[in-house]
Amino acid sequence: MLRPAVFLDRDGTIVEDRGVLAKPSDVVFYPDTFDALKRLQDRFLLFLVTNQPWVARGIITLDDVNRVNTWVVSRLAEHGVTITAVYVCPHEREDGCHCIKPRPYFLHMAGKEHSVDLERSFTIGDHPHDVEFGRSVGGRGVYVRTGHGEKHVNDLQPGEIVTSGIKEAADWILRNS
Ligand SMILES: [Mg+2]
Ligand SMILES: [Zn+2]
Repeated sequence: MLRPAVFLDRDGTIVEDRGVLAKPSDVVFYPDTFDALKRLQDRFLLFLVTNQPWVARGIITLDDVNRVNTWVVSRLAEHGVTITAVYVCPHEREDGCHCIKPRPYFLHMAGKEHSVDLERSFTIGDHPHDVEFGRSVGGRGVYVRTGHGEKHVNDLQPGEIVTSGIKEAADWILRNS
């Protein structure tokens, strides 16, 4: 049986966007994240999908990114939140890779590997690409004003769902699914 999922952006969505997160001690969770994700996981599989172009630029390594992600996933687990898989694009947009958001590569991968019903799924993020990401597979994207959200809000297509942050995004999804 196919299950719906929520694909979460990391920086600016569930943790503060502090530029390059090179090590676990750089991570600061938004206080609302734990409760919001706990409520979402009652009805959705949860995934993290993050673009980390600083790897391609040589500022951090993929190992650094993986260490931060492992730490994020285990802090969430301590709060009872299960992340089914984490997907990282380590490329720069100029590389023309297949996996950078909003390209739906990781959505299709999750669909196959974890039996996700993409059309009943949602993406959440603080960049218009995060919204386009969900829409590209027939799902919905929910925009948050945290992180870079306030800066890019005017770049959204008319009619997109704009929320104040992860709590309100979760509320919206639970009301509209
Ligand atoms: Mg972000
Ligand atoms: Zn990529």
